Amino acid sequence: MDPSIDRRVFLSAAAALAGAAIAPSLSAHDRIVQTAPHAPASPTAPAAAGPFTLPALPYEPDALEPVIDTETMRLHHGKHHQAYVTNLNNAVRGIEVPASVEELIAKLDSLPADKITAIRNNGGGHANHSLFWSVLAPKGQGGEPSPALRAAIDRDLGGLEKLKELLSAGALARFGSGWSWLVVGPDGRLLVTSTANQDSPLMGQPYADKPGTPIFGIDVWEHAYYLKYQNRRPEYVQAMFDIINWNEVSRRFDAATR
Ligand code: MN
Repeated sequence: MDPSIDRRVFLSAAAALAGAAIAPSLSAHDRIVQTAPHAPASPTAPAAAGPFTLPALPYEPDALEPVIDTETMRLHHGKHHQAYVTNLNNAVRGIEVPASVEELIAKLDSLPADKITAIRNNGGGHANHSLFWSVLAPKGQGGEPSPALRAAIDRDLGGLEKLKELLSAGALARFGSGWSWLVVGPDGRLLVTSTANQDSPLMGQPYADKPGTPIFGIDVWEHAYYLKYQNRRPEYVQAMFDIINWNEVSRRFDAATR
C-alpha cells in the first residue's frame, strides 16, 4: 500500500477532528485538501453603498433557543434582513431620503411613483425586522411590562392574556406572509392589528388598516419559523410569548405616548 495514501487519510481525519488548529503544520497542498470542503462557496459580496445598514443582533444567534433556532436566526438576520437593506439602498439611490427608515416609510405617498413599491417592501422589511430583533430577549431575561404599559394593556385590551389571544389570532388569521402587531394608535391607546407582507402600521392608510406606532410584532413569514416548526405556525406563535423583551416594549410604549 502506498504510504502517502495512509498519510493523506490520516491528515484528512486529523483535519476533520482538529479543524483549522493544525493547519500551520501542514504543507500547502495538504491545507488545500483540508480546507477545500469547508471553504465558502464565494467571498462575501460587498454590501451595496447606501444610507441604510443592517443593525447587529442585540444577542448571540443562539440566544433565543429553543424558541428560535440558531440556523433560522442566522439566515433570517444575515440573509433576509440584509437583503431588505441592500434592496432598500438600491431603491433610494438618487433620491433624498430621511436618515430614519421609520420616517421614510411613514411618507410613502410623497416618494417618486416608480420607487414606492420597492421602498414599501424593503423599507418595511428593514423597519419591521429592526424592531423585531429588539423586542425579543432570551427566555427569562425580558422582564415584565412596566406599570404604565400594564395599565394600558388592561384598559385598552382587557389584560395580558387577552393581548396574547389577540396577537395570536392576528398571526393565525394572516393568510400568507405578514406580521401581527401591538400598536400605539394616534389617540395613544393600544390596539392589535396585522399587516400583509412587509407593510407596517407606520405606513398609515391605505397600507395599514390600523395606523400607529408598532411597539411589538410577530413575524409570520415562513422564513421566520419554517426550519423548526414547519407548518406549525400556532406552535411558533405560542412559543414567541416566552421571549418578549418587555423592557424594550415598555420603553417603546413610553416613547410613543410621551
Ligand atoms: Mn422576517
